[in-house]
Parts: sequence; structure tokens; C-alpha cells
Amino acid sequence: MQAKIQFNCVISPYPAQKIVNLPLFKMNMELKEHFNNKIFKLISETADELGLECYVVGGYVRDIFLKRPSKDIDVVVVGSGIEMAQAFGRKLGRGAHVSVFKNFGTAQVKYHDTEVEFVGARKESYSHDSRKPVVEDGTLEDDQNRRDFTINAMAVCLNKARFGELVDPFNGLDDLKERTIRTPLDPDITFSDDPLRMMRCVRFATQLNFYIDDTTFEALSRNKERIHIISKERIADELNKILLAPIPSKGFIELDRCGLLPLIFPELVALQGVETRNGRAHKDNFYHTLEVVDNISKHTDNLWLRWATLLHDIGKPRTKRWEPRIGWTFHNHNFIGEKMVPDLFRKMKLPMNEKMKYVQKLSLIHISEPTRQAEISYAVFCLKKKKRDSL
Ligand code: ATP
Ligand code: MG
Repeated sequence: MQAKIQFNCVISPYPAQKIVNLPLFKMNMELKEHFNNKIFKLISETADELGLECYVVGGYVRDIFLKRPSKDIDVVVVGSGIEMAQAFGRKLGRGAHVSVFKNFGTAQVKYHDTEVEFVGARKESYSHDSRKPVVEDGTLEDDQNRRDFTINAMAVCLNKARFGELVDPFNGLDDLKERTIRTPLDPDITFSDDPLRMMRCVRFATQLNFYIDDTTFEALSRNKERIHIISKERIADELNKILLAPIPSKGFIELDRCGLLPLIFPELVALQGVETRNGRAHKDNFYHTLEVVDNISKHTDNLWLRWATLLHDIGKPRTKRWEPRIGWTFHNHNFIGEKMVPDLFRKMKLPMNEKMKYVQKLSLIHISEPTRQAEISYAVFCLKKKKRDSL
């Protein structure tokens, strides 16, 4: 019997993603309607007064078509994003807070619960050993070329004369309809320039339950070694987002398929494989783990509970033995797993605080829980501990 369990103890830095309902997608939607609030009207006025071309771009535009609420607005200005932000902030008046990041050429305007990020349209060129580009002023086209995926490269004009016009040079809208993640330019260049995009590729495919286009996927495999120039923190950030997706296994399977997983998380890959001796086989602990992660994800958005599930058998490869009278054994794998958690968290730059201890405690305890299914035992355990645990 499946227990119905509610968790109110979830505090996680990333909201878990709900599955996107694409059948509701309307291709002929009046885009203008989505920009008729005060914020966009005032950005439009400001841009026209300064004589600057101005567009909403990226995730905000994508999420309109996906019918996902999105608070963060990215605006590209053909000219100075900082000048534009300051003028917009003055127009908003009291309640507006403008932060300028001169080094990045960007500025953010916060107004109540809305955040608008302004950036000047730019052209980027990369050196081989860094994901930090040399940046120069560019056109809207240059700026769209440097975006990671076609679905993230769509722009909507805010200037009065073209208000609500979609600029979609890479047919991002078609890719949304076909549920496809594809790079706007040659994927070898896109991924090699900034290898974080490889993690973002798998992350978006997982969050949205999209396919990765074949050519894009092949480039993931070819460029996988470039992931070494990306900081562990950025990788952990993407892994957390994958883990918070509705079906996290999809992300780990894609990461494995393209060869990134052994580079960023070899301990998980070590769970793979089935060995048979004298007709006795053990289960594939990799797929077993992913199954349990997907199951727990139906019950909880708690990122750390999902991590605990992902690591619940992590000690198995080190404890695997063949015992002629018993068969395959993994004695004490929970104790070994418990010991591995801090090292893993340290190595992957995950937090070394009470969250790590919580994951560690769960990886020790899971085996002693009386229920058959690990996910239920985690859930029950978590529920019992809810009052004592602040997580
Ligand atoms: P979400 O915030 O929901 O994760 P998003 O698409 O808004 O998704 P952000 O990281 O907020 O993602 O970035 C905003 C936009 O900036 C993206 O839509 C994309 O156009 C661009 N972008 C972000 N990171 C990169 C990158 N590494 N390479 C190229 N373009 C990027
Ligand atoms: Mg965003």
C-alpha cells in the first residue's frame, strides 16, 4: 500500500519543478497581452525616450509560451544597459532599487517582488581555458547568438513601434513545440566556449522533459572533457536543479549517456552493472537508485531528502563480496556510505553543514527501517523526525 505523505518541512533553495503541460500550448497567442503591465509600459517609455532598442529576452519569453510563471525579467538594450536601468529606476520612483554592476555592464532594478536585469547587447569571444569571455558591444543578433539554446534565445521588442514583436531567429518556438533542446549555433562551439552549457542542456531537458537534439547531444559527448574548467559550485548548482526536477532519473541517465557523469560523479557510476556468478545476479544499483529517487520525488520536494536517496547505496561498490553459500553481499554498505557522504559533499562543494549531516544520517539509517521500499522508509523517517529536524 502506498502511503500518502505530506512534507511541510521542506526548505530548499530551489523550487522543485512541475511537469510542463505542453498540450495547453497556443502558437498564435497574442504576445502583447503578456506585456501589458506597468513594468513593461515604463520600460518601453524609457527606451523610446533614450532612443534605445530594447527587448525582453531568454527565460521570461520562453516561460510565457510554456505557461510557467516567471518573475525574473531579462532585458537586452542595444546600447547601455546601465543607463537604461537608471532611467527606468527614476521613472518607477519610490520603491525602486537600482544596483549597478559596472564590471559586468549590467544593472538590476528591484521593484516590489519583480526583478529586472538590464544588459547591453553584446558579442562574446572565448579563450580556451576560461568560460569568461572577452565582451564587446554588439547588436541584438550578436546577443542572441551567444545564448545557450534556441528556446532561450527568443526576444520580444518593447519599443512602442514594435511592441510585442517576437524576434526568433533560430525558431525557438518550433523547438518548444517539438520539445527539443538545441543550441543556436554549432553546438561544438557553444559547449566548448562555455562548458557549463552542457550541464544546463541536461538540466533544461530534465526540468522540461524535453529531448536533446541529436547533433546537440553528440556535441555533449565530444566536449565532455571541457567540463573540467567549470567550478564545482556551478556543477553542484545544476545537479541540484536536476535533482529537483519531476523525474530526476532522466537527467542522470542523460549525463551518463553523454559521458559527463563519470567525470563529475564517478561514485554514482560505480553503482552500475550486474554481475552473475553460478546463476546468481545482484541488481543494478545505479538504476535501482534512480528508481528510488524518482519515487521519493513523488512525495517530497526536499532537496536533501532527494540527495539522501541518491546516496543511499553509495557504499555498495566498496562492500560487494561473493560469498559462496549466500551469493552477493554488501555487508555494512550503509556504514561505508555514511563515511563517504562528507567526502563527497566536500569534493562536490555541497554544503558541509547540518544538511550534509542529515543526508549522512539518512544514508546510515535506511537499511534498518522495517518497510520494504526505501522511499517509504525515508519518508516515514523524515515525518517522524519532522518536529526535531529544522530541515
Ligand atoms: P531559469 O532561471 O528558469 O533556470 P533561465 O533561462 O532564465 O532559466 P538563467 O540562468 O536565468 O536561465 O539565464 C537567463 C538567460 O540568459 C537564459 O535564458 C539564456 O538566454 C542566457 N544564459 C544564461 N546562462 C547562459 C550561458 N551559460 N550561456 C549562454 N546563455 C546563457
Ligand atoms: Mg532566470
